[in-house]
Amino acid sequence: MNAPIPPESAGKRPVGTQPRVLLTWLLLGLSVVMLVGRSAFEFFEGQTGAVDLALAVAISALVTSAVMNARAAGMFVERRHSEAESFSRIVRALSRSVSPDAVVEAIVHELGAATEADHVAVVRLRPGGIVLDVTFVSMLPGAPTSNTVMPVRQIEPAETWNVRQVPHPPSSHTPLRIFAGEPEAVWLDDHDHGSQGTGVDDDLRRNVRSRSRAPAFVQNEAEAQEVANRIADRLRDAYGLRNMLAAPLQAGQSVAGAIVLSRRTGEVWPDSAVRLLRSAAFETSAALARVYSFQAAESEARTDQLTQLPNRRYFDEYCKLLASRRRSTDRVAILAVDVDYFKRLNDQYGHQVGDVALRAIANAIQVSVREEDVPVRFGGEEFVVLLRNPSAGVALEIGDRIRQSVRDLDLTEAGVTERVTVSVGVASGENEGETIDGIVERADQALYAAKRTGRDRVVEAWLSEVER
Ligand code: GH3
Ligand code: MG
Ligand code: MG
Repeated sequence: MNAPIPPESAGKRPVGTQPRVLLTWLLLGLSVVMLVGRSAFEFFEGQTGAVDLALAVAISALVTSAVMNARAAGMFVERRHSEAESFSRIVRALSRSVSPDAVVEAIVHELGAATEADHVAVVRLRPGGIVLDVTFVSMLPGAPTSNTVMPVRQIEPAETWNVRQVPHPPSSHTPLRIFAGEPEAVWLDDHDHGSQGTGVDDDLRRNVRSRSRAPAFVQNEAEAQEVANRIADRLRDAYGLRNMLAAPLQAGQSVAGAIVLSRRTGEVWPDSAVRLLRSAAFETSAALARVYSFQAAESEARTDQLTQLPNRRYFDEYCKLLASRRRSTDRVAILAVDVDYFKRLNDQYGHQVGDVALRAIANAIQVSVREEDVPVRFGGEEFVVLLRNPSAGVALEIGDRIRQSVRDLDLTEAGVTERVTVSVGVASGENEGETIDGIVERADQALYAAKRTGRDRVVEAWLSEVER
C-alpha cells in the first residue's frame, strides 16, 4: 500500500544515504581512482607526459563537480518538494477542521516536524476579543500539550489589534526573527532575491520599534508582525523559550493571533521554515475565520433573538446531552414560567410594548437563577428554567425569586402602569427513570394549577397532584 509518509519520518533518510545513490558514488570514486591512478602510474613509469596526467585529473574534477552540482540541485528540489508536501498536508487537514481546536490540531505537528521546531504555539483571539487561547505543543515525544488563556491586555498596545488595513496579500507578510527575545534580524521577506535577513540594518529595527509606540504612523504589515512579536515575547516569558519565529494570524483587517515556533538551539531558521510558517499562518487564519463564523451561525440558531436567551432548540439539544450523561444520583428540576394575562397587555399597549415587557421579564428570570441553571425562552410568553442538582427547596426558592423579580419590574418607561406577573410551575426529577420531558410535563401541570388558583404564584408539582 502506498501510505503517505508520516511527517515525523519524512526526511529521516536523506536521498544521499540511499543504497542506490551510495553505489553510484562508489562507482564514481572507483572510476576517478582508476583514471587518475593509471595516468599517475604511466607518468611515473615514464610512459606518458605530465600533460596526460593533468588531463586525467581535470576530467576527474569535471565529472565530480558535475555530479556534485546535480546533487545540490536535487537536494534543493527535494527540500522544496517536501515543503510543498507539508504545506498540502496542512491545507488538507485544515479543510476538514470544523472547530478552532481541530484547526490548531491540524497544523501544529506537521508544522513542528517540517520546520524542525522544538515547540509550536498557536495563539488565537477568541471571538469577543478579550482573551487569547494559547495552545503550546512540545515536539518532544510524549510531552503534553498545554492549553492556557492569555488576556489581550497583556499584548500592549491594544490599538494594534485593530490594524486598519492590510494592503498587501498575506503571502507578503514579514516574519520576524527573534533571538533570545530580542529582534536579532528583521528582514523584508524577499527570499527570491536572495535576502537572508542577516544584513538588515539597525534603521529597520528602529523603525519597527518606533512603529510599535506610534501605530498610527505605521505600515500595517509591520504592525501585524509587531503584534505577533509581542505574543512571542509573552510566550518566551511564560515558557522560557529562546530562538523564535513568529507569524501573525489575521482576521480580515485585524490581527487574530500568531503562530510561534521555537528552538532550543540558536541555529538560524532556514528560509523553508519561514516560508512554510507564513503560508501555514495564512491558511490557518482563513480556517479559523471559517470555523468561527460557522460557530456564530450555530449559536445564533440556538438563541432567541428577542430576549437573547437560549431557545427551544438549544434546550432540546441540551436535554439530549444531559440525558446521555445523567447519573442515577443527578437531580434535575424544571421551572415552567408563563406570563399572566399577556394577551391583555398586548391588546392594551401594542405588540411592541409587549416585546419590551418580554425582554424585561427574560432579564428578570436570568438574574434570578444560578450560574449553572439554564433559562430558556420556550416560545411566546413561556419560559423554562432547567436547574441542575438543586438541593431540597432550591427549585421552589428560585421559582419564587423569579416571580418576585418580575413583579418588581418597573415598566412605566414603556408606558405600562400596572404590574406584570408570572405564574411558575415547579417539578423535580424524583425517580431515576423519569425523562426530562416527563419533568417538563409535570412542571406544566403545576403551572396550570398556579393559573387556576389565581396566578402570580409558584406551585410545586406534587402539590398540584394532591390538589386534584
Ligand atoms: P394566561 O395568564 O392564561 O397565560 O393568559 P395569556 O394572555 O398570557 O395567555 P394567552 O396564551 O391567551 O396569550 C399569550 C399571548 O402572548 C398571545 C400572543 O400574542 C402573545 N405573544 C406571544 N409571543 C409574543 C411575542 O413575541 N411578542 C409579543 N408582544 N407578544 C407575544
Ligand atoms: Mg400567559
Ligand atoms: Mg402561554
